[in-house]
Amino acid sequence: MNKFEIDSDCADRLIREQRSVWALLDKNCQALERVETRIVFVEGVPVTLQFNPERIRSAAAVIDRQSIQNRKCFLCEENRPAEQVGITVAGKYVMLANPYPIFPKHLTMPSVIHTPQTICGRLNDMLDLARAIDRYIVFYNGPRCGASAPDHMHFQAGNKGFVPLEYLWSDIYREQGEAVYRDGNILLGRLERWPQSVFFVESGQMDRIAEAFDLLLRLLPVLNGDTEPMMNILCTYEAPVWRLWILPRRTHRPTQYYEEGDKQRLISPGAIDLSGVVPLPRKSDFERFTKEEIIDIFMQVSLTSEETNRICKEWRKI
Ligand SMILES: [Zn+2]
Repeated sequence: MNKFEIDSDCADRLIREQRSVWALLDKNCQALERVETRIVFVEGVPVTLQFNPERIRSAAAVIDRQSIQNRKCFLCEENRPAEQVGITVAGKYVMLANPYPIFPKHLTMPSVIHTPQTICGRLNDMLDLARAIDRYIVFYNGPRCGASAPDHMHFQAGNKGFVPLEYLWSDIYREQGEAVYRDGNILLGRLERWPQSVFFVESGQMDRIAEAFDLLLRLLPVLNGDTEPMMNILCTYEAPVWRLWILPRRTHRPTQYYEEGDKQRLISPGAIDLSGVVPLPRKSDFERFTKEEIIDIFMQVSLTSEETNRICKEWRKI
């Protein structure tokens, strides 16, 4: 067992046991097994639209400071449902079944203390988690990038083989991957055509990944009032190599979110959406969404290609 003293079997067992005692989780997992989906091809990648009414909490989450202060934090232990029991990880996080899943196996891993969502000082934890539960992809949504609890640090994880960015990676990399820097121990790169800007790092050395990530963090813009660049991060481990994807953002929600009537789209993209599985809580959105709208929305929330190019030039100087 790794230093986090958990593994993928623990995670699978947790979800199984929680389903047997927690009716809400079991109901939502069963609904997911019958969920309606629709495929839309974007740059040759099959993006899955998922009609998932339970995700309304996240898609329409109100996350302004006042509203956050006035609600009870659902990730704090004292406010969690009595049935929701987790596994403490390294004394720092607790592994929980996500009661509103998008993945067939979907975990939420909040910090044991109520502290703001930030990746600063926590990248190594993310790498350790990805190695510990290596049948899962671990991901992080920045505070204004899809996280519905920006006041309480948490990672999430879902089973591998679900988001195209992960399970189709070798095809995607072959079609549109560009190496930005490479030596015997690390590869830094980016995707050339995916509508959302994507940087990635591959290495078996944790310290080299941390170095590349820190440099990228310094190159990405920090927008007004934020404490870190807006981004989504995903990570997998395939012994002995980690793969880290960094998806830089410039806005939380696309203009379509604020439209009215037929033009409105209830979507607040996070790591899962931008990796190719888009949960849509409303049937009308699920039926109407077009490929062009998906491309437009991914581009709106992403860093521009000019900025991405500028950053690549600096990043390769690592
Ligand atoms: Zn909390």
